[in-house]
Amino acid sequence: MAGKTGSETKKITRYRLLIKGVVQGVGFRPFVYNLALALGIKGSVLNSGEGLVIEAEGEEQDIRNFLKELKENAPRLAKISNYQEIELHPCGYRSFVILKSAPGNDKEALIPPDVATCPECTKEIFDPQDRHYQYPFTNCTNCGPRFTVINEVPYDRPKTSMAVFRICDECAREYSDPVDRRFHAQPIACPKCGPRVEVINRQGVRIDVLKGWLELCWDILKEGKILALKGLGGFHLICNAKNNEAVKVLRRRKGRDAKPFAVMGRDLETVQKYCLTSQREAELLCSSQAPIVILRKRTSCMLPGELAPNLKTLGFMLPYTPLHHLLLNGPFDVLVMTSGNYSSLPLVKENSRALSELHEIADFFLTHDREIVNRCDDSLVRVIDGEEQIYRRSRGYVPGYLSVRRESKAPVILGVGGEMKNSFCLLKKEQAFMSQYIGEIDSMEGEENLFASLSNFQKLIGVKPEIVAYDSHPGYHSAQVALKIYAAAYEQIQHHHAHLASCMADNEMDNEEVIGIILDGTGYGPDGNLWGFEVLTGNYSGFKRWYHLAYVPLPGGDMAIRHPWRTAVAYLATFLQERGKKYAAMLFKDKKVDIIEKMVARGFNSPLSSGCGRLFDAVSALTGICLENTYEGQAAIELGEVALEPEEGFCFQPYPYEIRDGIVFPGGIIEEILKDKFSGVPAEIISTKFHQTMVHIIVELTERTAAVTGLKKVVLSGGTWQNSYLLQAVKRLLKARGYQVLTHSRAPANDGGIALGQVMIANWRWQEKCV
Ligand SMILES: [Zn+2]
Ligand SMILES: [Zn+2]
Ligand SMILES: [Zn+2]
Repeated sequence: MAGKTGSETKKITRYRLLIKGVVQGVGFRPFVYNLALALGIKGSVLNSGEGLVIEAEGEEQDIRNFLKELKENAPRLAKISNYQEIELHPCGYRSFVILKSAPGNDKEALIPPDVATCPECTKEIFDPQDRHYQYPFTNCTNCGPRFTVINEVPYDRPKTSMAVFRICDECAREYSDPVDRRFHAQPIACPKCGPRVEVINRQGVRIDVLKGWLELCWDILKEGKILALKGLGGFHLICNAKNNEAVKVLRRRKGRDAKPFAVMGRDLETVQKYCLTSQREAELLCSSQAPIVILRKRTSCMLPGELAPNLKTLGFMLPYTPLHHLLLNGPFDVLVMTSGNYSSLPLVKENSRALSELHEIADFFLTHDREIVNRCDDSLVRVIDGEEQIYRRSRGYVPGYLSVRRESKAPVILGVGGEMKNSFCLLKKEQAFMSQYIGEIDSMEGEENLFASLSNFQKLIGVKPEIVAYDSHPGYHSAQVALKIYAAAYEQIQHHHAHLASCMADNEMDNEEVIGIILDGTGYGPDGNLWGFEVLTGNYSGFKRWYHLAYVPLPGGDMAIRHPWRTAVAYLATFLQERGKKYAAMLFKDKKVDIIEKMVARGFNSPLSSGCGRLFDAVSALTGICLENTYEGQAAIELGEVALEPEEGFCFQPYPYEIRDGIVFPGGIIEEILKDKFSGVPAEIISTKFHQTMVHIIVELTERTAAVTGLKKVVLSGGTWQNSYLLQAVKRLLKARGYQVLTHSRAPANDGGIALGQVMIANWRWQEKCV
């Protein structure tokens, strides 16, 4: 080794290191052990509740190399948030050992998210000579379940749902051999000692056949039947994605008319047969998070349209457990893989509940005896203009944290989140822990799910909230939920302010003033109306509303949201008066237009809304693209789908609109759209013109706001920004005009991200009170 000259006495030094962050369950201890062996370092390594504690003693140069390697070449899945070292007197260690985990007082050690099966394990399950051949629970130090099986920290087998499986001798040998790739793999399992699968029918009777469970499942799928499959974070409902009839049956039984189904493809090449993938999209599909990636279908794509009606895109993911790999390496290269729940209820995770809740949807069940501790839906991402947008942040990402700017001694804050697409957020020091996808919380099951997930999250992170922040909508269930959680203080947060703050925090911004273009469906405004097309300025401490879309009554409130034609009638009656009524009668002949018009005129059960989503709904219904929303945002999504791509270069004169006293009046837009429609202009041209008009309005409002305030940073938040046309075009135009445009990438732009904004706003209210 360099610098060694035989007889010299070398200086021996000793260091104690504390490494915090995601350092457990990621192969950190074997990495340290092997590194110490290679460099002749003596001492020890252990997992404590605080993080990884290393004692390292050796010659000065070796220690230096050791520290350098630790920092620079840490295991792929590790995420170091804090690194402390102190030098101590040498104490004469003789060897390097891995010590038994010690619980710490402060739970600083972070649990890694679940990791998709690694290539080595995949190879083993297809190798008839290997003892893991065809074994659906094969995993190693670099892959397998984590968050979904853990009850408590530190992350060790007795604290997971693997505790009930007695490890066999062979697994025990691999587990304790520091050079083995399963060294300290907590969920280690083999056919001899690990969990087992079984196939049962709707009556709960186990089916045993000579050819085994895998071929039995293939036979079931070949017959066009629906199989409920127990996966990593819950049950999936699966069927042959190429069997149009089977897909239709699944839709009917699940009560899901048109909402797109996710599909799992055998491998990347398979996905590329049906969809186009950019480099970034391919990376995401193959990543250890293995999310569903929304991809553009090839024009030659022969998969049934029933998978994603009226859409040019399809959500694809790759197998992320050995069970998936095995299922997809037979007669099927694509399987529908949709969440196992009925309508808006939480994902089913228990075997008994699967039978009781899914027996009318699934024909058979492929289940197993490893308990799912934490429910976790698949994550959903899309790449727009080369940048990743996360629509649902769940499996593979949770419980990873987002670092944010705040005082590290500030109190622990909980953001309860929104009403739909719920996800809560716990803010601890400078780390924002966003929960897995909770979904809708206005049912008993939904509320139960939120409380159970919150209690598990608190245990894993080792905190209790001191302040609880929640949406200011008085009718929201989330407000009632928030007040049931014990805390020293409660903070009500305006919905669109939370969106603005969420996007700022997503970009790790300090408390500086920005322009926020917040576009979504619905959020409660301080004036008692439903906001949703908002040009704000503000920061974490407060906001000011500069511009908004003109209010329109929503006849029947939620009913209007479900039936966009009602909103269209309201737009016509409000902005085009008598002319509008004539149009409405022509367009919606078979609907009860007169009742809706009366409701609008009298303001009966018709809350006022400036929601951007509602304008999209109205235009979608007026052009005949979508009259009914069978899933959230359907009309707006289908309208966006038919727009010609921005790069196709079509440029139209925007539809006329008017801006008066901070209000955008869309009457001209509605009227001109109808003129176009009645003179035979195709829907895709109308949609493109409408989108371009929206871009025009947004850019004009930004320029007006910037001219008065001098602000040049713009944040874009709210569910409408999932519209890829709008996002691309606005970003490009504003950037070209010298603005710094900040969008979401780590947290969802939709209501799944508002909890992050809630905690940041509550944090600043606290901070300002302290001054
Ligand atoms: Zn592996
Ligand atoms: Zn075993
Ligand atoms: Zn929102």
